[in-house]
Amino acid sequence: MTETPKSLPSLFLSHGAPNILIHPSDTRAFWQGLSARWPHPSALLVMSAHFPAAKPTFESGGHPGMIYDFGGFEPELYDMTYPAPGAPALAEKAFGLARAAGLDAALSQGRGYDHGTWVPLKALYPDADIPVATLSVQPRENGAHHLALGRALAPLRDEGVLIIGSGGATHNLRAFFGGEDTPAWAQKFNDWLCEKIEAGDAEAVAAWEQGPEALRNHPTPEHFLPLPFAFGAGGPGARGRRLHRDFIGPISLDAYGFG
Ligand code: ZN
Repeated sequence: MTETPKSLPSLFLSHGAPNILIHPSDTRAFWQGLSARWPHPSALLVMSAHFPAAKPTFESGGHPGMIYDFGGFEPELYDMTYPAPGAPALAEKAFGLARAAGLDAALSQGRGYDHGTWVPLKALYPDADIPVATLSVQPRENGAHHLALGRALAPLRDEGVLIIGSGGATHNLRAFFGGEDTPAWAQKFNDWLCEKIEAGDAEAVAAWEQGPEALRNHPTPEHFLPLPFAFGAGGPGARGRRLHRDFIGPISLDAYGFG
C-alpha cells in the first residue's frame, strides 16, 4: 500500500503563450516532468489569470468545455482539447471555505477551461484523468485579498488537492510584442520577487505594487494575482521555492512551489 503524504504543495506557474505546448523548450520539459515530483492529486483547483470576476467564482460544472481565448497562434492549438471532468464537490467545498473566511464568493456553471488552465495542465497531466475545479482571479482586488483567499483554501491540500495559480511572474505584453530582449527592469522585478518568495515574505508579495518596476512589469494585475493566491494556499508560514526559471524577452516563465 502506498501512503498518501499529508499534503501537496501549491504551485504558481507562468503560463506564457499557448504554443509552448507544441515547441520543445525548457519550460515545456519542466511542465512535463513536474507531476512526477508528487503523488497523483485527487483533484486540481486552478486560478487562471484569464478568468476574471469581481468576486471569487468557483466553476462547479461537471463537464467544462474548451475556451480558445487567444488569437494568431498555430492552427493545431485550436484543435486541442482537455477533457478532464469538472470537480463540482470540490468547487462547492472551496466556495464554502472562502465564505467561512469572510470572503464574498460565488459559484458558476458552464464556464470552460481557458488557456491559462488547459495549456499547462495538458503538459502536467496529459491523460486529463484528474477532476479540475477552476476559480476566478479578481483584478479589482489587491494582493492581500488573493493571499487571504489562498490561505482560506489551503486546507484542501490535506485532501490531496493540488492548488495552482496560473499567471505570469512578469507580464508586459506590449514590450513583448515590441521584440525586446529581457530588459533590466523585468530582471529586476523578477529577482526581487524570487528573493521575497524564498524568504517566506508573503506580505511583501501581497504588496507587490511596491516592488521595483512593478507596474512596468504588470501594467494590469491579473497575471500577477494568482501568485499571492498560490503563496497563501501554501498555508501559514509557507516559504516558496523557485522550481523553474526562464524568460522570453520581458516575459518571465518562472514557477514556484509553496508549502
Ligand atoms: Zn496569460
